[in-house]
Amino acid sequence: MPYRLLVIPGDGIGPEVVEAAMHVIRAAASRYGVEFEIKTGEAGDVALRKYGAAMPQDVLKLADAADVIFKGPIGESAYDVTSLIRMRYTLYANIRPVKNLPGVPAVKDIDCVFVRENVEDVYVGAEYKVGGVAIALKVITEQGTRRVARVARRYAEARRRKVTVVHKANVLRITDGFFRDVALEELKGLEVDQMYVDAAAMELVRNPARFDVVLTTNQYGDILTDLAAQVAGGIGLAPSGNIGDYKAMFEPVHGAAFDIAGRGVANPIATILSAALMFEWLGRRDAAEAIRRAVEKSLEAGIKTPDIGGRSSTIEVGKYIASIL
Ligand code: ATP
Ligand code: MG
Repeated sequence: MPYRLLVIPGDGIGPEVVEAAMHVIRAAASRYGVEFEIKTGEAGDVALRKYGAAMPQDVLKLADAADVIFKGPIGESAYDVTSLIRMRYTLYANIRPVKNLPGVPAVKDIDCVFVRENVEDVYVGAEYKVGGVAIALKVITEQGTRRVARVARRYAEARRRKVTVVHKANVLRITDGFFRDVALEELKGLEVDQMYVDAAAMELVRNPARFDVVLTTNQYGDILTDLAAQVAGGIGLAPSGNIGDYKAMFEPVHGAAFDIAGRGVANPIATILSAALMFEWLGRRDAAEAIRRAVEKSLEAGIKTPDIGGRSSTIEVGKYIASIL
């Protein structure tokens, strides 16, 4: 049975980086005998203008039927597409590996995996305004914390058995305190430490090599992973996977970057490495590792976009990496 793959190109640089990544996905699939039935759906700002809905009904149906979703960045309507997909399919763990790449100028050496809770916290979308008071609810549940902590455990067991739990339980005693307590319980038997989010931000710049698996709540993870991506060499290189129990979505960490859209200069590596995460989630570690090696070879050969000091175009990078496969 082929995997049903829904591709959402997205907005801004989305269509460019996704096109480049599709060359790599097709090459890896044919080289490693992975079968996909590929459908494409328009969602985001463009869809909103064309069809009056950021996530049109027929695309939602395709998403419902898909085993896996591969998505470019979405612009202004990100919340209506990305969050909707995360919530609708309970993609509760956001996996964001951060690692240096050859020939890419970095702030420091870093090799860690962020496991960010992905459907709770202040991003549940419960905001209210009453007169001169605006309120957002922060929701942390035991079930939500346990399941994401279990994902962190799996990653830690495959790595150095070390997890850092990041929170702010000194101030948010009840919510973050609960997250910390449940997480620590779920991680028993591993080498576990904990850090306040402000200290973690500092440490990520001062001594990022100290981190291996980092488990944190939704908002802290959102912010810290942009920081960590920059430590490793830039947002154009950072992949992510949104993982649930029966479905997953893969996308670059960066946004639609309208400032550079349509010029063929966007770095497709974040999106291509997201494809590697997709193959890994499908149980095809061989294809995933091959994509990562091909990305490294391509960088070593100097095939780079301008953001990391090269002169190649988005599609040239994609095709070169695909050709190595
Ligand atoms: P969003 O609100 O969707 O997160 P943003 O305005 O924060 O979007 P991003 O797209 O996340 O913008 O990225 C910030 C800047 O980093 C962009 O304006 C762009 O110049 C640069 N950038 C982001 N992604 C890439 C990429 N793939 N290749 C090159 N540069 C990029
Ligand atoms: Mg951004």
